[in-house]
Amino acid sequence: MRVAVIGLGAMGLPMARRLQGAGHAVAGWDLSPDRRDAAQGLALAEDAARGAEAVLLSLPHDTAVLAAAEAVLAAGPAPGAVVVDCSTVSPETPRRLAPRFAEAGLAWVDAPVSGGPAGAAAGTLTVMAGGSPGVLDRARPVLEAIASKIVHVGGPGAGAVAKIVNNLLVATHLLAAAEALRLGRRAGVEADALLAAVNGGSGRSAATEVNFPRWILSGSFDSGFTAGLMRKDLRLAAALADATGGAGPLSELVFRAWADSPVPEAADFNHVAETVWRDG
Ligand code: NAD
Repeated sequence: MRVAVIGLGAMGLPMARRLQGAGHAVAGWDLSPDRRDAAQGLALAEDAARGAEAVLLSLPHDTAVLAAAEAVLAAGPAPGAVVVDCSTVSPETPRRLAPRFAEAGLAWVDAPVSGGPAGAAAGTLTVMAGGSPGVLDRARPVLEAIASKIVHVGGPGAGAVAKIVNNLLVATHLLAAAEALRLGRRAGVEADALLAAVNGGSGRSAATEVNFPRWILSGSFDSGFTAGLMRKDLRLAAALADATGGAGPLSELVFRAWADSPVPEAADFNHVAETVWRDG
């Protein structure tokens, strides 16, 4: 297939490489000259979507996705082409764009992903997809190159809702683990020993099984996911809660803790848990 990848950041570039590796003819574009330089070996064009049979978006927020959607329509993909939006955005965005693209004889799938840059490079992402079954089938050749699990959550926007729910859980579990491990340390047991215990017990989560050992205790902080992106996802969760009867008190605390953390936007998101764990 001729595939365009718009947004060649931490996620988009390894996904583009996977698509190339699967035998697709890939063209890409990113607004940032630095990211275009990083994309050696990829055909680069501002109108990469022209004539493409599939367009994958991996963009930082709703505004970028809405702008890219206009650029895709202007470029003119192949008749019947599918847009696969892997960005984490509000469900309003695919709900607005799916009918608009259908009118143009094109398809739009919200297909946010979980698994980070390492999962993108290995092709082991989980995709949370929203769209009609027929539209999802058109996206499958693209999704199968980047993901080992494709969950069809529901109609347009359902994938976006699932991803927001997923990341609200990630943000909550990380802070819960940080506070609990701080309690253990203050009571005289270090994090390594605590993790060995809880990871063999029922208190475990991705925060205790992955984040703390791989990125926090090792000191690597190289997950490839920034505090700024997590704060964006939590703003999406707060907006979704406002539109649907409100967030619970625990979620409100989580929103505030991430927003008020002194960790800079560009820093690895695990630093937010680290600062809580170290001194609170
Ligand atoms: P990133 O900031 O590394 O990459 C986004 C890229 O989009 C940047 O290089 C930017 O220059 C480019 N861009 C912005 N507007 C553009 C436009 N209109 N046209 C072309 N390029 C444009 O972000 P990322 O970490 O790759 O994340 C991308 C999306 O995937 C986000 O929505 C994020 O929440 C989500 N996500 C990230 C991870 C992760 O671990 N990094 C995991 C799952 C989901």
